[in-house]
Amino acid sequence: MRTQLDLLGTLIDCVDAPQALSQIDDFVRSGRFHQVVTVNVDFLRLASKDRGFQNLVNNADLVLADGMPLVWASRRRSTPLPCRVTGIDMILSCAQLAASRGYSIFLLGAAPGVAREAGEVLQQRFPGLRIAGTYSPPTTEPADQEQCVRMVRAAQPDMLFVAFGAPKQDEWICQHQDRLDVPVCMGVGGSFDMLTGNVRRAPLWIQRRGLEWLYRLVQEPRRLWKRYIVHDLPVFARLMFQSRESTVVSQPATIARPFESASTEAAFAEQIFAGEASSQMSELAVRVGQSA
Ligand code: UDP
Repeated sequence: MRTQLDLLGTLIDCVDAPQALSQIDDFVRSGRFHQVVTVNVDFLRLASKDRGFQNLVNNADLVLADGMPLVWASRRRSTPLPCRVTGIDMILSCAQLAASRGYSIFLLGAAPGVAREAGEVLQQRFPGLRIAGTYSPPTTEPADQEQCVRMVRAAQPDMLFVAFGAPKQDEWICQHQDRLDVPVCMGVGGSFDMLTGNVRRAPLWIQRRGLEWLYRLVQEPRRLWKRYIVHDLPVFARLMFQSRESTVVSQPATIARPFESASTEAAFAEQIFAGEASSQMSELAVRVGQSA
């Protein structure tokens, strides 16, 4: 069974990073389209005022809690989320998985050249990683969107990471799912900018205290103050004071094997996150973010 927690009407999967990676591995093996969404407080805000976007998230195949506020809020419920699972950490672990299994990845979005540079960073870190393609379209106007679909279709990757910002990236994936025909499609926000060092990632001690948003705000105050202070703070307050009774829902997993399976694939995912590998990846996430 798939267990999800209802936070302000948006359903979040109760999984940790190894479970998420194991699920992603299964998605690739199935060969069928799957959408992965990484939800933070801003997503909850967007979803609560746009029913269409909320449905999109609630119909996604895997919904990850990309923010400590979601985890804090979940601790007030009977089934708390095990931890935060960030988009940047998932890109790194997916790249490691892809390098080990021979899967190929495609990086789409961000400013011109950034997707290509992010691909190079990943290839340096994970030798043998197959990059099926990279493309940063000049705009996300319909003609450029069409070009994106054509390039991804031609490249036939196993995993596609899309950095157009939310909700655009997630809506784009959903809208084009039939034509993309990629087993794993995930919106990743500003992750390419972190990989390339255009945006610095917070040190681990700041991340662990749930203050990464403050670190980002200090770096880009003009762009982010309104989002974090004006828009997201009231949503954060609602999130923390939402009724404790709500809500764990369970439904059959979208593929045959359950999250808690003790298969070799799950063991492999555990290995990727175990001990040294995990801290190396976290350090990489911080280091690549600070190298600019
Ligand atoms: N972006 C893009 N096209 C757009 C809007 C944004 O390629 O029309 C890229 C932007 O360059 C950045 C990424 O989307 O690399 C994420 O944007 P944002 O920081 O808003 O996302 P967040 O991480 O805050 O969700």
